Amino acid sequence: MSTIAAISTGQAAGGIGIVRISGENALNVADRIFKSVSGLKLNELSGYRAALGTVFLEEKPVDEAIATVFRAPKSYTGEDVVELSCHGGLYVTRQVLRAALSAGAVAAEPGEFTKRAFLNGKMDLTKAEAVMSIISAQGEQAKAAALGTLDGLLYRKISGISGELKGLAASLAAWVDYPDEEIEDLPDDKILSVLENAASSLSDLIARFDSGRAVLEGVDTAIVGKPNVGKSTLMNLLTGTEKSIVTEIAGTTRDIVEETAVVGGVVLRLCDTAGLRETDDKVESIGVARAKQKLETATLILAVFDASAPLEKQDKALFPLCKEKHAIAIVNKTDLPTKLDTKILDTVFNKVVYISAKENNGLQSLEQAIAEVLGTAAFDSSAATLMNERQLACCSAALDAVNEAHDALSSGVTRDAVQVCVDSAIESLDTLTGERATESVVNEIFSRFCVGK
Ligand code: GDP
Repeated sequence: MSTIAAISTGQAAGGIGIVRISGENALNVADRIFKSVSGLKLNELSGYRAALGTVFLEEKPVDEAIATVFRAPKSYTGEDVVELSCHGGLYVTRQVLRAALSAGAVAAEPGEFTKRAFLNGKMDLTKAEAVMSIISAQGEQAKAAALGTLDGLLYRKISGISGELKGLAASLAAWVDYPDEEIEDLPDDKILSVLENAASSLSDLIARFDSGRAVLEGVDTAIVGKPNVGKSTLMNLLTGTEKSIVTEIAGTTRDIVEETAVVGGVVLRLCDTAGLRETDDKVESIGVARAKQKLETATLILAVFDASAPLEKQDKALFPLCKEKHAIAIVNKTDLPTKLDTKILDTVFNKVVYISAKENNGLQSLEQAIAEVLGTAAFDSSAATLMNERQLACCSAALDAVNEAHDALSSGVTRDAVQVCVDSAIESLDTLTGERATESVVNEIFSRFCVGK
């Protein structure tokens, strides 16, 4: 396999920039561009040793650097690895990378280091995917859940389920393939109980997926309401910035403003939409159309109402859009005398929350309502969590196959048919962990990584 190199630190100026080189030739490549102060070649160093020296490109010094040597298999990728830690300027790290490429390394593909770690048996697919989730984690719960997966929580859970099924498959196979041998017959109720346990564990994982995803990936959230109810003020309060323009002229939030905020442990991707009012203004009407579209695709809707004014047609126009969605009614401006009749809101929305965005009152009850509506209040980041759609699809396929096996046995179909279903469930679970994933699945997963990881 080729020796690869990439900048592994972020594409911005920083204290340190690291160029990572991995592969059979990593030490030779590094020795061609790095001269240590001690005069020792990196090839002479054992693993986990470091040397101070200078990196050269076309015989000119580029930067002073520390070279850290990792010897196969004790490295991130399982191959020989050299990490050159230089001063973190973008120009400098790019020069160091150029030096490595000119010395015989090839540019790493996105996620190629982690892919090699997987192919060399350093980690299963759930752990590789957890690496990606940790990089993109924006909140404490997300990081905790991803770290748990990296630590093997999901892998052990899935292996536990497939282990039971493999035991069952082996017994079924023995019984089906060697009917004449004196193999003890597995009673139906024993088989059914293994299948029921597997189905229950898989169902639990699947049921937790939505709240897990809310925690891990964040939630598309639309803030809607007629003009002047306080959407921009609320958005600014949640994000802690002055991004939305707050004015008293109706219709000033003309387009969609997007921001993220961590609310109740969940990352919300907020968009403050133009009010949904009829308008002749061309620019504003585009904003209104986009707001409607956002409403349709958002996972969470925060519908804002003005406590100091009676409910109007424009307010009511939101109701049908909020039905069958995770929607919270926010009655704002509670610092002013109340004119809004809120009874009808209780019938339309999962939750009604009273706040004063201007006076920063009621934010806590809003956080709580969001966590409850999204199911993240009860989310346990120390339990095994499915991290993405791919893993969900594998689990769902496994559950379907287990249920099919259960139905087949209960309705008296022959045992070899049961065995086929059990094998299919095992295959799905092995695909999830990567024990049996096809090359295209593996390539797809790692292509979503950043270069250098
Ligand atoms: P938007 O059009 O829905 O985005 O509304 P804005 O956030 O621009 O707010 C419209 C006006 O209402 C501004 O003058 C805000 O200062 C005011 N406002 C927002 N929230 C409150 C509140 O909780 N209480 C009071 N009294 N005024 C508010």
